Amino acid sequence: MTDDSLDDTLIGHAGCRPQDNHGIINPPVYHASTVLFPSVAALEEAVRDRFDRVYYGRYGTPTTFALEEAVAALEQGDRAIALPSGLAAIAATLTALLKAGDHLLMVDSVYEPVRTLCNRTLARFGVTTTYYDPLIGAGVADLIRPETRLVYLESPGSLTFEVQDIPAIAAAAHAAGALVAMDNTWATPLFFKPFRHGVDISIHAATKYIVGHSDAMLGLVVTKDPHYRTIKASAQAMGYCAAPDDCYLALRGLRTLSVRLQRHQETGLALARWLRQRPEVAQVLHPGLPDDPGHALWRRDFSGATGLFSIVLNPVSKAALAAMLDGMTLFGMGFSWGGFESLILPVKPEAVRTATSWSAPGPTLRLHAGLEDPQDLITDLERGFDRLRAAS
Ligand SMILES: *Cc1c(COP(=O)(O)O)cnc(C)c1O
Repeated sequence: MTDDSLDDTLIGHAGCRPQDNHGIINPPVYHASTVLFPSVAALEEAVRDRFDRVYYGRYGTPTTFALEEAVAALEQGDRAIALPSGLAAIAATLTALLKAGDHLLMVDSVYEPVRTLCNRTLARFGVTTTYYDPLIGAGVADLIRPETRLVYLESPGSLTFEVQDIPAIAAAAHAAGALVAMDNTWATPLFFKPFRHGVDISIHAATKYIVGHSDAMLGLVVTKDPHYRTIKASAQAMGYCAAPDDCYLALRGLRTLSVRLQRHQETGLALARWLRQRPEVAQVLHPGLPDDPGHALWRRDFSGATGLFSIVLNPVSKAALAAMLDGMTLFGMGFSWGGFESLILPVKPEAVRTATSWSAPGPTLRLHAGLEDPQDLITDLERGFDRLRAAS
């Protein structure tokens, strides 16, 4: 575990420039398309420097730049790029770095819509994708071909929370001249530092914990040089731009990320420990639990666990599962996560894997531990299990 206590100070100050705005702490929301230039010389200079300044609304505004600067500083990257969703951040990265004839190694536990992007869109443009076992470690070297350009990681994996050996995979990729991109949404820039572990490009669905209040869609790509320019140019070529109001909400959410995550972590672990004792539960998939298969790697590389994890139930009828889930009062059912509210969602990892197979005795449920009182959440789950048993 690394000590990132300085992050708590940085998070309140990174990207803040009150002196540029009458001393007001937060940057205003700049709504902009046209930006005026006072002379031909100024216009020509702006065209030349367009990736680094206010130029045209689509390239970003001072609100966008404040968010990008803050996130890049927290994650210890060089630059960040705000995009209209997490999936757009992934799409911008992959389309910027890959070309026809290239080969992509994609982790099998990736956020599912990324598979559609690879299998349909990238395939149409001549990029080949091979899915690999999230637990492959240094063995990924055996899958690397001369045309492998990028190895993509997401750790812990979506739905099933396998922890990848990120430094081992990154070392194998780099030895073969391939780049390493990682979806760091789960850990956020606070609980995992990708650039210290060999990652070249870090991607966030800021929609989740960074926005943190379930009210905006936003993505971020954090880069080390020289990838910023490549990805920014590609995002521009495709017309991606993040909305200024959403950048404002993300920057506002970021300021309290550390205190929120402490609570998500504590409640998530409390729920995970309680669930592990339950007779209805076959397995708890949470790398923060000491007996989780990913615990040692998580402890080595991460400085915390956020509030998202899964459980596998013992075999149960569809009706009994519905009786449990339909009656929850605090846990809501819906997509996304990372807000202040607790969520529970039936998921089907077995339906999406191709490189590995996922078998579980009963249904898998993904939980998000929100900021409610942990005991109240346990009571909600306990009553849910009562309904499940009564309907069995
Ligand atoms: C939600 C999610 C995304 C996509 O983010 P959106 O903002 O919903 O497009 C990407 N990666 C992970 C791990 C996610 O959970």
